[in-house]
Amino acid sequence: MDVVETVARCRALLDRARAAGRVVGLVPTMGALHDGHRSLMVRARAECDVVAVSIFVNPLQFGDAEDIERYPRTLERDLLVCAEAGADVVFVPTVREMYPSWPAAPSTTVSVGGLSDAWEGASRPGHFDGVATVVAKLFVIAGPCRAYFGLKDFQQLAVVRGLARDLALPVEVVGCPIAREADGLALSSRNVRLSGDERAAATVLSSALAAGRAAVAGGERSGAAVGRAMRAAVATEPLVRLDYAVAVDAATLQESDAIDDPQAVRLLVAAQVGPVRLIDNSAALEAVDDVPAVPDATDQVRRLERIG
Ligand code: AMP
Repeated sequence: MDVVETVARCRALLDRARAAGRVVGLVPTMGALHDGHRSLMVRARAECDVVAVSIFVNPLQFGDAEDIERYPRTLERDLLVCAEAGADVVFVPTVREMYPSWPAAPSTTVSVGGLSDAWEGASRPGHFDGVATVVAKLFVIAGPCRAYFGLKDFQQLAVVRGLARDLALPVEVVGCPIAREADGLALSSRNVRLSGDERAAATVLSSALAAGRAAVAGGERSGAAVGRAMRAAVATEPLVRLDYAVAVDAATLQESDAIDDPQAVRLLVAAQVGPVRLIDNSAALEAVDDVPAVPDATDQVRRLERIG
């Protein structure tokens, strides 16, 4: 496994792999790796010839200086997780390597209008511009590839898909299922900051999604009513401060009014639990949960490579 710190070295390794006809899989992360990240790597390993993982705590996507300072950093352990999951390349750039002008923000940034505005975008102004900018840069460094993202960050996945589509980047974005604890809590690097009581209370996010799904399964077709069912579930837990719990159109992320096609609806929830902001989401129907249809990896990417 090659651990590389520079853009030039990362690009050279992946260019060389592609020149040898190998398909590159990219897994962007901010480190503090857990089984959710590992599941993306395992998927990339199964579908690609070369797996590159990036570990970079991107300052552009944090609004709150305290949040970035407290973001867990466990590089040594992360490298073991990458090696065990079969990564070939781990890209660990410094902030100055990614943003040479730092601490001045880069003058070129990327913004995906519309999809970035609501929900996480409204609660964390500038967050998705930071995400889109770093992901665009990682895509340009990695070159034509398949890139693996978790459905855990559903809006982020939509923003990244929009970015790749709008800029015609030669990257096939693959959404991967949400890895959860046995009690339903979605894995997150931030979960380690929860106290015992907060950790127990945090399960109310996945319970709220279950309540939303139960309402839909019971025939509820008002998006507002499904949202109310989710919010009522969150309200049972005093340690959890709700931000939003809504039923949205899975493609546009606009709040659903009448739910004509439950398969096209996604349930989103976000809340503050102690010092940590948690998000979760789910399909509106259990039957069509997280697993997306994956087109043939190799052919698709080889075609992209010929174009790229
Ligand atoms: P992060 O390190 O939080 O930026 O996450 C890196 C990638 O891992 C993103 O594509 C996330 O959506 C994904 N991810 C984070 N948590 C999970 C999870 N519980 N299940 C699946 N993917 C996840």
